[in-house]
Amino acid sequence: MSREKDKKPHHSAQSDAALKTAALEAVLLEKGLVDRETLDELIDFYQNEVGPRNGAKVIAKAWSDPKYKQWLLSDATSAIASLGFSGRQGENMVAVENTKEVHNMVVCTLCSCYPIPILGLPPTWYKSAPYRSRAVIEPRVVLEEFGLRLSNDVQIRVWDSTAELRYLIIPIKPKATENWPEEKLAKLVSRDSMIGTGLPYNASEVSV
Ligand code: FE
Repeated sequence: MSREKDKKPHHSAQSDAALKTAALEAVLLEKGLVDRETLDELIDFYQNEVGPRNGAKVIAKAWSDPKYKQWLLSDATSAIASLGFSGRQGENMVAVENTKEVHNMVVCTLCSCYPIPILGLPPTWYKSAPYRSRAVIEPRVVLEEFGLRLSNDVQIRVWDSTAELRYLIIPIKPKATENWPEEKLAKLVSRDSMIGTGLPYNASEVSV
């Protein structure tokens, strides 16, 4: 079998869309119909607020409901769709669970494949060449740069996304959150904790 055949497609269709978007953005900026600052604010809003909140609801449900967590681990696409989150770039989802022994993190070494329906737009660093190459070569160092220092006996598993498979990390549920309702648990789930480059917030960091 040729190596070419082994290569999984990433998002050639999206590249086309990305080009069209960039062209549209250039025209809008040139004509003065939008300004750069507003555009950046909008992107930031979708990157950090809207998108990841969907994923946070999925994680909060998995933390609260063991049956749902099992479903999420065995068929993430259906379990996520049952909460109303589906669509392009979320068609084939895989959920992996962090444990005391194993910490998972996600990268797309070839481009920037990302589970948009549950995490929104990928952050700039996720698309950057250094993250894409170094996450695989020296994940422990990369995590330290994100401020996440893991004990040496914790194994790090790196998952490489493709157009066919997008990953969601189920972080370890923070301590002292027993009997918390899902809506409150969701506040603990940071975007980076679902990519594996961060951890959820501590219980004490979340207001009621
Ligand atoms: Fe990709």
